[in-house]
Amino acid sequence: MNTIADRDERHARAMARKKQVVDSAIAAATEDRGVIVVLTGNGKGKSTSAFGMVARAVGHGLKVGVVQFVKSREGTGEERFFTRHPEVQWHVLGAGFTWETQNRDRDAAAARHAWAVAREMLQDPGLGLVVLDEMTYAFLYDWLEIDDVVAALENRPRRQHVVITGRHAPNRLREAADTVAEINDVKHAFRAGIRAQRGIDL
Ligand code: ATP
Ligand code: MG
Repeated sequence: MNTIADRDERHARAMARKKQVVDSAIAAATEDRGVIVVLTGNGKGKSTSAFGMVARAVGHGLKVGVVQFVKSREGTGEERFFTRHPEVQWHVLGAGFTWETQNRDRDAAAARHAWAVAREMLQDPGLGLVVLDEMTYAFLYDWLEIDDVVAALENRPRRQHVVITGRHAPNRLREAADTVAEINDVKHAFRAGIRAQRGIDL
């Protein structure tokens, strides 16, 4: 008969086995170095996740550089919040959504300028974290050479972390990254007619 005591006993044994697996995985991870994180996919939460890591990094006293490659909206909540922090260098350098600017040369020039600023950050050992928000579109539209970007990522300071966001991350970038997450789009309020909400979408 299955008593509560049996069930508790089975649970305790299963948790002890799980603890062994988790502990040995933690013991095996001994390396300390900067990592590249790519956040892609069509679901909501890529940029906000990146800015959550900015908060973590600032909390630990790291200096942070952020380049936004697509200037979607003026004065997002995170821009207003983090520009109050002297540890954070925040640059909004994109030209705007491609369907708004409708000007390929202007978009490409803005992306190249954003990349020039980002490249400097990737050479600055004083920056513990660099966020390249919505950078992936620069590859989608051929504004930037993926090889140049991967080379700069590989040559960055050893302890520097980089987070890159945006849909359709190219394979070269996924291969260069240490951590890749794809956020799945299950549903979004916008498609039900709810406009972008402060604190949630901007
Ligand atoms: P967020 O900035 O909220 O983390 P994101 O970076 O994952 O979103 P982007 O493609 O950069 O996604 O889109 C930015 C804006 O578009 C946000 O206001 C977000 O709420 C909205 N958005 C994100 N995903 C979707 C979606 N699948 N459908 C409609 N709107 C979306
Ligand atoms: Mg985003």
